[in-house]
Amino acid sequence: MGEGKGTSGTTAVADHADIERVVVSDDEISAKIDELAKQVAADYADVDSVLLVGVLKGAVMFMADFARALGRHGRPVELEFMAVSSYGQRTTSSGVVRILKDLDRDIEGRHVIVVEDIVDSGLTLNWLLKYLASRSAATVEVVTLVRKPEAVKVDVKVRYVGFDIPNEFVVGYGLDYAERYRELPYIGVLRPAVYSRG
Ligand code: 5GP
Repeated sequence: MGEGKGTSGTTAVADHADIERVVVSDDEISAKIDELAKQVAADYADVDSVLLVGVLKGAVMFMADFARALGRHGRPVELEFMAVSSYGQRTTSSGVVRILKDLDRDIEGRHVIVVEDIVDSGLTLNWLLKYLASRSAATVEVVTLVRKPEAVKVDVKVRYVGFDIPNEFVVGYGLDYAERYRELPYIGVLRPAVYSRG
């Protein structure tokens, strides 16, 4: 259920000088969000309320579009955000997580869907799921827009996956490099020269 497909063959062209290649185009993102929302709306049809927990900052674009798509499919949702930071190198995660912004309310007995931009090693998500379980949610599932299957280090259950992508560092649609490129409407790979600018 919700297993993503590879995205090779996309013909979208990057309109930003720093982007070498588009990995997931904006059209592919919109179509996939609609598909995921339809599926989630059907899976949660018998549930009174659903709480989306977005992981800042990367998931902000996906969260906004996904929540609206759920609304179009007749599934009202409530929104919460958490911000966490993983200790590690700039582009890798160590699995040691610090909460920068906690949930604003109790989630005991709630049906929670964690909204992630990307699952890379899975270490951050693994930690987050344990944390949410410790706060007694009734159910916790995960939706991620993209996942890098080759990078996964822990076996973490992700029920809804938009796209499986190759193991390269990507930016756009909420994902940053040094806080830049979040506003791009697609997901792409940076030109190598960008990293050597310092
Ligand atoms: P993890 O390795 O724990 O699954 O991922 C932790 C976090 O690292 C993600 O939530 C995301 O913020 C960041 N991350 C992982 N891969 C990428 C990537 O390709 N691009 C960007 N911009 N961030 C990434």
